[in-house]
Amino acid sequence: MMRQYELVERVKRYNPATNEALLNRAYVYAMRAHGSQKRASGDPFFAHPLEVAGILTDLRLDDATIVAAVLHDTVEDTAATLDEISAIFSPEIGALVDGLTKLKRLDLVSKRAVQGENFRKLLLAVAADVRVLLVKLADRLHNMRTLHHMPPDKRIRIAEETLDIYAPLSGRMGMQELREELEDLAFRNLKPEIYATITQRLSGLSEKSGRLVESIEQDLTAKLGARGIAAEVTGRQKRPYSIWSKMERKSVAFEQLSDIFGFRVVVETLEHCYGALGVVHTSWPMVPGRYK
Ligand code: MN
Repeated sequence: MMRQYELVERVKRYNPATNEALLNRAYVYAMRAHGSQKRASGDPFFAHPLEVAGILTDLRLDDATIVAAVLHDTVEDTAATLDEISAIFSPEIGALVDGLTKLKRLDLVSKRAVQGENFRKLLLAVAADVRVLLVKLADRLHNMRTLHHMPPDKRIRIAEETLDIYAPLSGRMGMQELREELEDLAFRNLKPEIYATITQRLSGLSEKSGRLVESIEQDLTAKLGARGIAAEVTGRQKRPYSIWSKMERKSVAFEQLSDIFGFRVVVETLEHCYGALGVVHTSWPMVPGRYK
């Protein structure tokens, strides 16, 4: 479990002006409130809000959001009250925790009644402050990372909901990495055999291609440099869920996929952007009909 000083250290790394006393107070308050409650894994419950706060420190969020993450399950699951939280912390933090408590209740009630798209709209309406949604998404991510401790029927319901609602929502908020991790975790729980097959193929492929991504990155950076284009080139392998959805969408086999590796080229100006496109097209032949 994350220690009190670790939480403070993680925030201080990107925000030296953080209010340490506030973070410490939240840590102690939530630890006392959750007391001896346990997670399905048998871990102390308090480890969960701390992990959620940890995910949000990776996103470099402000003190109020980190504190709200630490407190996010206290009103719903413990004797803590909103009035008390607003008084001890701040009305701003109280409002964030209130939003999270409302979302949690929404989760319980409307899941069945409302379909994906509408539920997403409902979430957006309830979470007037975008920080509430960020905590909610981090909460979901940690719950998905620990989903294997849940009984199978619950696992499937939560994974489906993640795929229908939370993953697309993350994508729309511009958090692609979060979206992909949520998708892969859901996919792994919903279609374990297919997930395993694709993962095996991918690791076989990266063994075979060795340092391919890295060597193309270097090659392309050098080629661009030779034309006076300073660029940041990053390559990566597609993720299992995204591969599977493409196979489904196009009814093709793994071997027929032509874009398992992708490269992103970031340049300073529009002119360099077209220049870079030219360099790419003269260096690697394009596949007719596949240009988009
Ligand atoms: Mn939670």
